[in-house]
Amino acid sequence: MDKILISACLMGRPVRYDGKGKLLNHPTIERWRAEGRLVEFCPEQAGGMPTPRPPAEIEQGASGDDVLQGRARVLEITGGDVTAAFVAGGQKAVEIALQNQCRYALLIDGSPSCGSGFIYDGSFSGTRHPGFGVTAALLKRAGVAVFSDHEIDVLDAETVSRPERQKPPNCSGGFT
Ligand code: SF4
Repeated sequence: MDKILISACLMGRPVRYDGKGKLLNHPTIERWRAEGRLVEFCPEQAGGMPTPRPPAEIEQGASGDDVLQGRARVLEITGGDVTAAFVAGGQKAVEIALQNQCRYALLIDGSPSCGSGFIYDGSFSGTRHPGFGVTAALLKRAGVAVFSDHEIDVLDAETVSRPERQKPPNCSGGFT
């Protein structure tokens, strides 16, 4: 069965900026886990960010694609420029997804890395706008279909209805 790259914080791993997880108890996720289909990954940790860390947002209402094209930065609330770490973490997410034959990713929404439905606008005021985070944008460019944590049922239907891709040689990878 197709594997799914999943935000590690959704599995309860304490990797978020505040040092906490964001466990999502959902019977479909539990079934996927039992089937050995989940590859847990945190791009911000993989990019070298410490935990806990200051919250960060993509500046000026831009999106992950803008960051990848050099038109915007990812900035911490303290002013630190963490663009390079976010891009490095996203690139590692792509590597892990491809090594593990993940056609799909289930990523938590709102994150400047993992967001796929909305992200925050860089003002640290809680203002949302539609857009992708850096990792979600990179995965999408690599051909991985990205779903948010609000789309579990949609993703489940997608993976059930589509035939599995022919598998390349197996590789290791996973939670960092
Ligand atoms: Fe969760 Fe993604 Fe943020 Fe890591 S980068 S804490 S996986 S939302």
